Amino acid sequence: MLITVTGLVIAERSLGESDKFIDILTAEYGVVEICAKGARKITGKNNASTQLLSYGKFCFSKRGERFYLNSSEPIRVFYEIRLDMKKLALAEYFIEISKYCVTTGQSAKDAMSLLLNSLHFLSEGTRSCEFLKSVFELRFLAEIGMMPQLIGCRDCYKYEAEEIFFLIERCCLLCGDHFYGRGFEENEYHIRLTKTVLHTLRYICLSDKNKLFNFKLGEQSQMLLNEITEKYILARLSRSFKALDFYKKICEDENTYLDGGTNENNE
Ligand SMILES: [Zn+2]
Repeated sequence: MLITVTGLVIAERSLGESDKFIDILTAEYGVVEICAKGARKITGKNNASTQLLSYGKFCFSKRGERFYLNSSEPIRVFYEIRLDMKKLALAEYFIEISKYCVTTGQSAKDAMSLLLNSLHFLSEGTRSCEFLKSVFELRFLAEIGMMPQLIGCRDCYKYEAEEIFFLIERCCLLCGDHFYGRGFEENEYHIRLTKTVLHTLRYICLSDKNKLFNFKLGEQSQMLLNEITEKYILARLSRSFKALDFYKKICEDENTYLDGGTNENNE
């Protein structure tokens, strides 16, 4: 029996001289491991569509306990991402999150489309890595039913207040009166929001998915947003991500290099 799925190649492992195993992330079946015979040959008919970060249609059959690729057709190959270490690390992070959380059903379809859209902008380079990272982290949680409570202060429902705090571990907002009234203090998990960042958090969670990436943010706001979305996703999923650690290491090295300021290579 032939099974056809649409999915993204998220890992490849060599097998012998010309074959390989690929892991495909799909909305319907989660991650599927398929053996692709001859796919490593340059002239192999499945060569392009079975490479890392290829999104396509895969038709396979089951023999014994394994799935074998019959034919495939690339829809979009995010080739450019593989040429940039920072982008690749971020893509791996998005994939690690998706793999961990996506099961099946409508939320998997929405999460998958978020992943593909994020890879699209990452590949095009029209949005910064930091921007895409924070949008992905927060919207992904919203898609799988872990949206924080952002309508207003949890205690008085005030939509906007002079002072407003986001409590990472409680997933909610508190106005200044209720924040201090309950004896809370500002710290790394009790974060004071600016109006811009509050609006942005709401926008990321609630906007139509076709408009999700259509906003701009200043550098200060982007930094605050990034801090919040990263802490929030790590707290909600209660785990760390190897690819995130690697991504952050690359960013650090990049900053050290820029601070060093001796770039003589004027390309
Ligand atoms: Zn309040």
